[in-house]
Amino acid sequence: MKKLIQIYPWINNEEKKEVEKVVNSTFLTEGKKTKEFEKSLSRYCKAKFSITFNNWTAGLFSALKIYGIGQNDEVIVPDMTFVATSNAVYLTGAKVILAPISEDNFCIDLNKLDKLITKKTKAIIPVHLYGQCCDMDKLKKIANSFNHKIFIIEDAAQAIGAKFKNKNLGNYADIGGYSFYGNKIMTTGEGGAIVTNKKKIRNKLYEFKNHGRKKKGTFVHDSIGYNFMFTDLQAAIGIAQLKKLKKIIKKKEKIYKKYKEGLKNINGIQFPKIQRYCSPVHWFTNVKCLEKKKLKNYLIKKNIQTRDFFLPLHMQPCYKNNDKIIKKVNLKSTKKVFDNHLSLPSAYQISDKEINRVIKSIQSFYENRN
Ligand SMILES: *Cc1c(COP(=O)(O)O)cnc(C)c1O
Repeated sequence: MKKLIQIYPWINNEEKKEVEKVVNSTFLTEGKKTKEFEKSLSRYCKAKFSITFNNWTAGLFSALKIYGIGQNDEVIVPDMTFVATSNAVYLTGAKVILAPISEDNFCIDLNKLDKLITKKTKAIIPVHLYGQCCDMDKLKKIANSFNHKIFIIEDAAQAIGAKFKNKNLGNYADIGGYSFYGNKIMTTGEGGAIVTNKKKIRNKLYEFKNHGRKKKGTFVHDSIGYNFMFTDLQAAIGIAQLKKLKKIIKKKEKIYKKYKEGLKNINGIQFPKIQRYCSPVHWFTNVKCLEKKKLKNYLIKKNIQTRDFFLPLHMQPCYKNNDKIIKKVNLKSTKKVFDNHLSLPSAYQISDKEINRVIKSIQSFYENRN
């Protein structure tokens, strides 16, 4: 039987046509197409400005830098996320303070946040993991309840199109952004973008990613910047992908509902809670499951690929004995979530028949395991 790949992008003629136009124009670096892509993205997210980056890790790093974050500062990051969230903080020289997550929605646990905030806390990065979010109003309230300024930077890498109370995630705080890596909800190959409603922030970010200058073609640099520029090749793919985004999100919802219906009577399986304030995007359909490892191996034998959750940051070999990565509180909840969750095949192209194959296989695993 055909191998079911857990996730892969939906690329066809639409992308080819757009890329061909850019190739024919011979202008490949960041230019007109990128502007066009940024405009469409802003419109989609209902933001005033979008700034593209060569990838979202660079975007996150830039956001921290234009807020002046560096040595001696602390930034709070949830213990469960893709490692780039904390590495972007690490690169600034600031300390990463690991925060527990809620076992319901995999986002930062707001009940435990107070304890982590000190005078040195400069920013909190909520990660909208798998397209869900925490109570952003409550988070803002907590951040604002301290005497010094604490910035919120949204890592919405996995949440384009998702909403918190009718507000697009990524565009809730002054700075938030998306990843367009190959396996994300939409892709440009590598790539990322920040959305903001503040012109000052837009200008600072543009300058920072453009070698410290306000415009290309000048060789007078007002500040120290880097090269995190986008390309029109990426923009071409992005334009085609943005046009498909509604369809992609709708299909992901359909996949989620089909799994939910098909697996509802299986005792070993539970679905994550969705809070009323959150309209998620089902980038992946995730389940809590008994005997995760065995189930995963069983499905592999049936040619069905699933995916583990992100290994908690506090368990990452790269952060062992690192005095910049701070574990102040108990982080057992993240290990627990890691130990008993799986992401099911969730690619746009998956057919009803294939979803049924996954459902049947999971059924037979739980029926036969004794
Ligand atoms: C993918 C991802 C990133 C990194 O984005 P890149 O575009 O690959 O640099 C950061 N944070 C989260 C939560 C991600 O999923």
